[in-house]
Amino acid sequence: MDAPNQCRWLAGASPVNAVWPLVPPLLQDELISSWLVRCALAQGCGPMTLTREVWPDLRFWCTDPDRYLSHAQMVELSRLSGMSADALHASTLIPLYRMMTGNADFPKRIAPWFLCLGIRNRRRSGGLQYCPKCFEQQTPHYLIQDRLAWHTACPVHHVSLLDRCECCHAPLCPQLITPPDETLGRCHRCGYELYIAPTQTASVDAVSFQNATDGLFSGPPRRYGDRRLLLSEWLSLSRWMIGILRTAARERSPCSKSFFLEMGVNVDGLYPPETGLPFEYLAPDERATLLANVWCMLKVGPDRLIEIAQRERTRPSLLLPRSGELPASLAALVTVLRSKRHRSNPRPQADSPRSTKSVLMRWHRLLRKFQR
Ligand SMILES: [Zn+2]
Ligand SMILES: [Zn+2]
Repeated sequence: MDAPNQCRWLAGASPVNAVWPLVPPLLQDELISSWLVRCALAQGCGPMTLTREVWPDLRFWCTDPDRYLSHAQMVELSRLSGMSADALHASTLIPLYRMMTGNADFPKRIAPWFLCLGIRNRRRSGGLQYCPKCFEQQTPHYLIQDRLAWHTACPVHHVSLLDRCECCHAPLCPQLITPPDETLGRCHRCGYELYIAPTQTASVDAVSFQNATDGLFSGPPRRYGDRRLLLSEWLSLSRWMIGILRTAARERSPCSKSFFLEMGVNVDGLYPPETGLPFEYLAPDERATLLANVWCMLKVGPDRLIEIAQRERTRPSLLLPRSGELPASLAALVTVLRSKRHRSNPRPQADSPRSTKSVLMRWHRLLRKFQR
């Protein structure tokens, strides 16, 4: 079941001297929320009943359960479950966030590269993914990488990940599974066996980007032109590329088309996401398309990118982020853009009617919320 580039965030762990009668082992790379639901089902109760026993004052499932657990909360869970506090901590997203930002506390707003659950009470609108083939071959469980936005494919089976039930289209909400169900293998809403879902071969370029990014957590920096990029630099460069790809898909122009064509990207094949939501809210296939193109652009390198931008007279509004800051590895692009800066179009008046595109986008966001 192993693959050469499969990442390993957590080795797995077994309980010692647990108070609870039946505690399943924490599986390799398993998320704490996934293990807690399996714990509850093993005791024959719902996840909410279990977490109320551990933390009576905490509405655990109404917040993102993988992002925050205080030391005191971890100690109490460790006492009841017999699982070491270190293993529990390693099964949250906190260690990864610290490696990516140097900070252990997740922000209240979107944390770049971590999928958003879109929580309302205990319901969600997305933010968790799975591989049907892994669910078929192993005890169904969710992995740390199933919450990471650059993960769109299973590195073992090379198929695209899914983020909802293929039968009723409900987002994955394992925290709503209750007895008599004993595993995470079925949709909480319609009971569909998640492993039956048809699979699609993953995009090779999206998988390459995924493997390269995973490799930066434990391996050497990656080369980009003359520079060697650390994880944070790699992520900020990739995020900038996602931004300009989305802008190009939204505002098509012959100028941006020729720029991207030279970069190995066919803009005609790019479509803005129906919801227009930030990257961390998008479905796996939408993210895979963007990341596959990011990989193509990364392969071109900084010198050629700047040369193409200069030759194609690419407009600054496409390449310059709203913050005005370019990734450090492309700082030289500023001089190219400065020479061509022009006044942007005036913003539409606040009381003018919304465009059809904007209304449709709002409609799709509303539909997404109804799926909770
Ligand atoms: Zn798999
Ligand atoms: Zn379903």
